[in-house]
Amino acid sequence: MDSTSTQQMDAIGRGELPPLDRVRDDVWSLAQPMPGGHLAYSFTYILMAEDGGVHVVDPGWDSDENWERLLAALAVVAPEFRAAAAVSGITGTHLHPDHVGMAARLRRASGAQLSMHAVERAALARHSTRLLDLDEALGRLEGWGVPEARRAELAQYVDRSPEGLVVAVDRDLQDGEQLPVPGFGLVAISTPGHTAGHLCLRDDERRLILTGDHVLPTVFPGLGLGGPTSSNPLSDYVRSVAALAPFGDYEVLPGHGFRFTGLAERATDCAEHHLTRARQVDAVLGEPGPERSVWEIASRLTWTAGWEGLHGFQLLSALNQTEMHRDFVRAGGLSDG
Ligand SMILES: [Zn+2]
Repeated sequence: MDSTSTQQMDAIGRGELPPLDRVRDDVWSLAQPMPGGHLAYSFTYILMAEDGGVHVVDPGWDSDENWERLLAALAVVAPEFRAAAAVSGITGTHLHPDHVGMAARLRRASGAQLSMHAVERAALARHSTRLLDLDEALGRLEGWGVPEARRAELAQYVDRSPEGLVVAVDRDLQDGEQLPVPGFGLVAISTPGHTAGHLCLRDDERRLILTGDHVLPTVFPGLGLGGPTSSNPLSDYVRSVAALAPFGDYEVLPGHGFRFTGLAERATDCAEHHLTRARQVDAVLGEPGPERSVWEIASRLTWTAGWEGLHGFQLLSALNQTEMHRDFVRAGGLSDG
């Protein structure tokens, strides 16, 4: 994996926010700060269409500062327009607020349509109605073998929908569909895993691929973070990584970090990170003795914070990931490929 922007790497080296970065004559990347967590910013991509309109991919975290930052970037990219009026289309790679939090504001100010995968639209729509009641949440924790004394701490986080967004999506994007951005051959690639309706976008002429949170240069993406799904996020992810194989030598424009080449290798590493965890789960499941609960399996795995250091949402997330890996192993995922 090699960074393709010295400007971004220099800024990162100084601990600063990367400046507005010109990727191609008509493609720009804007770092938008986000609160909390281990990632300092997400990337908004600004595409200058042939007809003079501007297409924005992942407007970023919603804040007044980021809004001003986006308007300032638009004034550089499309100086002939008055601010948001330049924007003729918006696409979201997935439903997380660090990617599409500002989509609602941008949509209102510009009148542009927001496009996302139909699965994300549905997940956003059921945001406020999807929570389990307390008894159901406690029941799930009991099923996982969580000791009674720890259940209250975790119940509030069970089956919590993706955080805090009410975003109206105007248009569904499907796998293989071309986005209406004149001068670009931008094609959506369905890449479920991180969320069930995650999309990557590729442009064959420019040999660029926007990977959202599917493949990132500095961290391994978490899986199954878009609300409840009917399929196993790890199985989905392994397939989604394979779907990018034909574009392994494209330059990657990720949702966080820095732009880079070496997609084939990085995507494989990301899948391998999760498969390694699945093999650990498989080893625990293969030990003699009675069937182990999700809690018991999780307590045997290696966690960055240490098992004893996991509390609240972090602990719930670890249990969710363990269940996902266990189900993947049980379904024969490790022997499929
Ligand atoms: Zn995400």
